[in-house]
Amino acid sequence: KVNLIIFGPPGAGKGTQAKFIVKKFNLFQLSMGDLLRDEVKNKTELGNKIDNLISKGNFANDEIVNQLLEKIITNQSYKNNIVFDGYPRTISQAKNLEKILSNENQSIHSIFFLNVPREIVEKRIMGRMTCEKCNITLNEFFNNEDEINNHKCGSEYLKKREDDNEKTIIKRYDEYMKKTKPVLDYYSSSNNFYEIDGGLKIDVITSKIDQILRV
Ligand code: ADP
Repeated sequence: KVNLIIFGPPGAGKGTQAKFIVKKFNLFQLSMGDLLRDEVKNKTELGNKIDNLISKGNFANDEIVNQLLEKIITNQSYKNNIVFDGYPRTISQAKNLEKILSNENQSIHSIFFLNVPREIVEKRIMGRMTCEKCNITLNEFFNNEDEINNHKCGSEYLKKREDDNEKTIIKRYDEYMKKTKPVLDYYSSSNNFYEIDGGLKIDVITSKIDQILRV
């Protein structure tokens, strides 16, 4: 029973790896981006607030993010079973995560950093497609035509994310370097921190993570 953090720049493969680990070890994937997008889609009170911020080009603030986080962490059925994907993104979020976890008598078992250079990240984000039905992520440059055209839910469900365009990729990468890189420095000295070459093949990365979790 573990809580894990998967860390890395946008497009590093965090979601892809999180989905494998979650399935294999029967864990819960906490993707902050998905949580925020779900609130907006379900038009909750919080969702409207998020929509207001996002539509003006701002990102959800710490207060909103923390509120969503607490809802998941205090849910007993997810206790010590969470894979944090794309969270925390700032030092203040990292400290807050520790606080909420320790209040609930939980901790972080390991932190995985997928290290990927910017050139690779750009191509991965530009080609990214996620299935609206089963949530699997594919890539128009890396998956072959059959995998895309014969996707089991129907290829019409494979959608690109609106923020996955050339313009925002550079902005998101710069934001990552500015705000999220310090979080990496904050974690990198702990003995449960593992850096993995995120440029490797998907299944090679998965087995590296798998090996570490089995020890
Ligand atoms: P993140 O969650 O870090 O933003 P994703 O998991 O959504 O990244 O991956 C971004 C894109 O790159 C997706 O299209 C995915 O299929 C592809 N991808 C992920 N990991 C790898 C990898 N190791 N090698 C090649 N492509 C990958």
